[in-house]
Amino acid sequence: MCPMLTSRRAIDALAVALCLSLFGGPSASFELISRDDWGANAATLPLKQHTPVRITIHHTAVGQNHARDITRKLRALQSFSQSDELLANGHRKEAWADIPYHFYIDAEGAIAEGRQVHFVGDTNTDYDPTGHIGVVLEGNFDHEQPGEEQKKSLGQLLIFLTSEHGIPADNIGYHKGFAATACPGENLIAALPRILERVRGQ
Ligand SMILES: [Zn+2]
Repeated sequence: MCPMLTSRRAIDALAVALCLSLFGGPSASFELISRDDWGANAATLPLKQHTPVRITIHHTAVGQNHARDITRKLRALQSFSQSDELLANGHRKEAWADIPYHFYIDAEGAIAEGRQVHFVGDTNTDYDPTGHIGVVLEGNFDHEQPGEEQKKSLGQLLIFLTSEHGIPADNIGYHKGFAATACPGENLIAALPRILERVRGQ
C-alpha cells in the first residue's frame, strides 16, 4: 500500500493513480475521500466527457460547519445537486447529473472527490465549464477566512492536479474570472497568490 496516500476504504483505481503520482514528494501527499467512501449515488443524467485544461476555484458561499462529517456534507450536496431547487436568490436551479464540482475541501481541510474529473461540471452562471476542473472550498469567503488546513489542502490538491493533467499554474483561476459572481469570495481570492506561489515552486 502506498504510504503517501490512503483511502478510507479499499484503495480504488483513482486512489491508486493518485498514489503513484504522489509518490515523489511528501509535500504533495493527501488523503482523498473517494465517491465510494462518502457513498455517492450514480449520476442521474448523461454526462459529457472533456479533457481538463484549467482549474477553477469556488466557495460554497455557505458558512463553515465544523461539526458535520464530510461524508454527510457530500451526500447532502449531491442530493441538492441532483434536484430541481428554488435558490435563495429566487432563481430556480435545474437538476444536474451530479455534484457540479470535481473536488470538495471541507472546513477541516479534508478533500473529497465530487464529479469524476473527466466529466464536464455544471454552473448556475454564464460560462462554459468545459475543460475546467472545479474545486470548491467550504465557506463564505466574503465573510469568513479560509482556514490554514483548507489552504494547505488546496495547495496540495493543486500541485497534484497540475502534475496529473499537465495543467500550467497560469491556468489556475477562480469563478469570478469567468462569470458575473462574487465566488470564491474576497478573502479566498486574497489568499490565492501565496498558495499559487507554492504550486509554482514545486
Ligand atoms: Zn463558483
